[in-house]
Amino acid sequence: MTDKRVFLGFSLTPQQALHIEAIQQQLPISVRQVPHDNLHMTLAFLGQANNETIDALIVSVDALNKPRFKVTLDLIEHWQKPKILCLKGVALDPTLIALANAGQLIAQQLNLHQSEHHYNPHITLARKAKATVNDVTFQPILLQPTALHLFESFAGTNGVEYPILHSWSLSDIHSIK
Ligand code: ATP
Ligand code: MG
Repeated sequence: MTDKRVFLGFSLTPQQALHIEAIQQQLPISVRQVPHDNLHMTLAFLGQANNETIDALIVSVDALNKPRFKVTLDLIEHWQKPKILCLKGVALDPTLIALANAGQLIAQQLNLHQSEHHYNPHITLARKAKATVNDVTFQPILLQPTALHLFESFAGTNGVEYPILHSWSLSDIHSIK
């Protein structure tokens, strides 16, 4: 039984993906833009997991309280070590902070990869970026995802792809009467 490389994260709406594309179009041609279909915001990178662990992970995430949250991404940053350009924000919404912490706890319980940093909400815009960029004109983006996804990071012949293995809808607390 072969392992899969997996992570928990959020998709963008088509409008948000277009918004990100408008930012990507202003980046230098020397960087490698993340393809439209691959744009996402990671909640927790979990690394290699076998099917049994993936099943246990799904059961654990099922049991979590998963309300909707808001996060604004408003800063373009260059991260030296992974050589990426990303659009990042700060997790201020307690719901998002709780979800990120819960993801780490589940990773620990299942002996999966845990992050060495505080949760840093971001969308990777481009790879192979050697320096930061200036003069990019953009509006901050507000994410309010309606679902959490378990993605596989799959190395396809045309580059990495992120097929969705499982999805959970996030509850809308305002709809509860
Ligand atoms: P590739 O590594 O093939 O260039 P990728 O980085 O998009 O592509 P993965 O490395 O599988 O693919 O990562 C999947 C997601 O998890 C991405 O959002 C990536 O930024 C994030 N990620 C990967 N490794 C880590 C890590 N060590 N810590 C935090 N997030 C990570
Ligand atoms: Mg990577």
